Amino acid sequence: MTRTPVIAGNWKMNLTKRKASSLAREVAAHHGASTSRRCIVFPTYVHLDHVRRNLRGSGVVLGAQNCWGKKEGAFTGEISPYMLRDMGAQLVLIGHSERRHVFGETDAWIAEKVKIALKAKLEVMLCIGETYEERQASKTYEVLERQIQALKVVQNQYVTKISLAYEPVWAIGTGETATPGMAQDAHQESRRMASDILGADVAEQMPILYGGSMKPSNAAELLRQPDVDGGLVGGASLSIDQFGPILDAVSGS
Ligand code: PEP
Repeated sequence: MTRTPVIAGNWKMNLTKRKASSLAREVAAHHGASTSRRCIVFPTYVHLDHVRRNLRGSGVVLGAQNCWGKKEGAFTGEISPYMLRDMGAQLVLIGHSERRHVFGETDAWIAEKVKIALKAKLEVMLCIGETYEERQASKTYEVLERQIQALKVVQNQYVTKISLAYEPVWAIGTGETATPGMAQDAHQESRRMASDILGADVAEQMPILYGGSMKPSNAAELLRQPDVDGGLVGGASLSIDQFGPILDAVSGS
């Protein structure tokens, strides 16, 4: 089966409104009308609308970096997935390692968010990944298995709206990258675990992206692995000089 490669830029808490808008225009121009890959950008909430306007007419998909796990109510400072949808986002990242490790989000809370985001008609990219200590203790698959249980909340009508991003925590923003072999093993195992929950056909079609210091020099080899269907790129997504070559690396995969 052939899965369309996905390259996504997680802009995190970076850029001004002007810089985000201009980066959006550069990404849109670079991606063009390509149908051989999917391109997604995740700006910060307050830039969503500006970025949406600057992506208009391009095939680049707009995503949000997080959401709250409720539709509406007394949750000062939070953003509902329904609001994101209303703002033009098509997709939301859930369970990014910074949400888990800096903000203390639990697996149960992440599962709640997955459920409501799908109900709000957003696609969900669920992030999973082990810490350095967990890998050293040979607990990588145990951790992935625990995090993947969030897929149990996915109802049948939404199974095609889910993708995974395998992001080993020790590789995020550190310059350390998983070897292509490590990434392939983790992706293959994650697909097997997802297939236990969602069924083999769904798991076979589900994109699994790699994230963790992906850059132009390592993207092509990572993307060549049979179960690596794309990249979730942090630091290197902030300039088109870095992100452009990563987008182009899928053609060689
Ligand atoms: C990320 O934050 O999702 C990420 C992969 O960051 P970086 O590429 O900077 O490691």
